[in-house]
Amino acid sequence: MKHDLIIVGGGVAGCAAAITARQRNLDTLIIASGGGALSKTKRIDNYPGFPEISGPELLEKLRAHARQMGAAFKTQLVRRVMPMGETLSVLADNDLYEAKTVILAMGTARVRMLPGEEALVGQGVSYCATCDGMFYQDGEVIVIGAHEEAVEEADYLATLARVNYIKERPHNTGALAEGIALLPGKPLKLYEKGEKIALETDQGEVVADGVFILRPAVAMTQLIPEVAAENGAITVDKHLATSVPGVFAAGDILGAPLQAGKAVGEGTVAALSAASYLLKSAPQ
Ligand SMILES: Cc1cc2nc3c(=O)[nH]c(=O)nc-3n(C[C@H](O)[C@H](O)[C@H](O)COP(=O)(O)OP(=O)(O)OC[C@H]3O[C@@H](n4cnc5c(N)ncnc54)[C@H](O)[C@@H]3O)c2cc1C
Repeated sequence: MKHDLIIVGGGVAGCAAAITARQRNLDTLIIASGGGALSKTKRIDNYPGFPEISGPELLEKLRAHARQMGAAFKTQLVRRVMPMGETLSVLADNDLYEAKTVILAMGTARVRMLPGEEALVGQGVSYCATCDGMFYQDGEVIVIGAHEEAVEEADYLATLARVNYIKERPHNTGALAEGIALLPGKPLKLYEKGEKIALETDQGEVVADGVFILRPAVAMTQLIPEVAAENGAITVDKHLATSVPGVFAAGDILGAPLQAGKAVGEGTVAALSAASYLLKSAPQ
């Protein structure tokens, strides 16, 4: 099923976008990995109409409103948005969704990358075992895991290749499949070594055919590298359209000021722009 609109992010901007999109009768799916900035906010004093409201309470109201309008919700981490002609494919955890338009509303979630990582993305460094695991059949890979879900992905990779697992952050690795080598130490940097990729750790060097980095968040530039961005913020026009046709953006992901009221306004504009884009691109 192809949705009219998929919104990546279920915070202020994402919910505001969903409410207006539903008012325009767009079939709308929100995919959100968590609660975003509001879930960390004790009290907001300047959100119009709701003096002294707590962040989680405002978030709950926004989500309830979006649901009441008919938006569907999924709690998943979006790993990749892929422009494929007239369709935008959205990979969330291990599920693939399709949409005619997408609104990016991921907030300011920053991901600290390893030195050397960015330059090697697609050149031996991957963030998705399901997407790229097959390239390493019968080879050797390193998995850099930052949360428990990475263990499951590593277990899948172990059905294809020899796997060395190293923790970027502390987490339980009890469910690692037999045969996976759990390496000691801390990942420090990545670099090419001949045809292979090397990982430097504080315990020495490990070399493999490929490296999978599995974190609970995705850097914006990796989620959709096709979209133009500057200084960590997505570049948009006055309709909040990005450089990729059918992809719009709203909220903190567009940069300062980081304010809930601004995120609401931008979510609304982005939804109206998506509706207008769909009308213009509909077959006559
Ligand atoms: C401590 C604190 C106090 C604040 N106080 C105020 C205040 O008083 N007044 C005010 O106006 N503003 C305040 N803000 C700012 C306000 O909370 C933000 O401007 C607003 O929440 C931005 O909304 P957003 O939808 O852009 O991002 P967020 O609300 O951060 O939502 C981002 C959403 O994207 C999801 N997401 C991210 N990456 C992915 C992914 N790869 N896949 C799926 N989902 C993803 C997150 O889980 C979340 O659902 C405060 C912020 C903080 C942190």
